[in-house]
Amino acid sequence: MDVTSIESKKNLINISIDDISPHPLSSFECIKVCEDIIKIYPDIKFTLYIPMGYWRKFDDKNLTTKTEKPLYLHEDPDLCKKLLNLPESNFELCYHGVYHSDSKTNNDEFRNLSYKDACSRFEKMFDIAKKSNLYDRMKKIFRPPNFTMSPEAIRAAYDMKIEQIALSDHERIKKEYEESYAIFGENVSWFNVMYPWKEYKLYEKTSIIFHSCSWSKNYLDNDNAELLLDFLNECNNIEFCFANKIVDNLVVE
Ligand SMILES: [Zn+2]
Repeated sequence: MDVTSIESKKNLINISIDDISPHPLSSFECIKVCEDIIKIYPDIKFTLYIPMGYWRKFDDKNLTTKTEKPLYLHEDPDLCKKLLNLPESNFELCYHGVYHSDSKTNNDEFRNLSYKDACSRFEKMFDIAKKSNLYDRMKKIFRPPNFTMSPEAIRAAYDMKIEQIALSDHERIKKEYEESYAIFGENVSWFNVMYPWKEYKLYEKTSIIFHSCSWSKNYLDNDNAELLLDFLNECNNIEFCFANKIVDNLVVE
């Protein structure tokens, strides 16, 4: 047995944060926590999935989070500048839709879209990225809000030149894709950790998700950062990577 080749095969880890936006309760604030983590793991990689016009249309339980209109990224030049100034060795920017919400929920923007409507939504997403001066920095990697996406919207994503799609293997959600993600070949990414709903565990390709929403149990605050660090400290033979290396990683348990 060739021991050296086994040892050199590292377990890949990518960490993503969803929903950084102009919303005061889902803001750039969590990047401070990332900066503390970078001091301990200078090679760590964060993928930020950014909605272009975050719009919560409904309040959460006991908390006012809704806004009267969409919070477009280009209307917050200060946030755009902060995103642009993030070090490229530790942060990449990817797409997370326009509004995040549909007419019934805060989360399912792409769940029921027709092919045609999904194409125009992607066009709008790219337009706002251009208006925000972020287009050249954005990677053509897409995670639908709440991971929900109609088969037609998945085909539209492919035709609109999205190069990689990040989905969920949750039984109900995955069923709704009707395997249309096969059009992306290997370039489909499945997350494996979203504490407390999906526990920490090391895989060959581990995708760990956090949120910038301060009301979420999965918010990247100091407590959740501590749990992440406890996990990373116990992992052997790991390498941090950006999202493009976490593909073709559906684990059937
Ligand atoms: Zn989101």
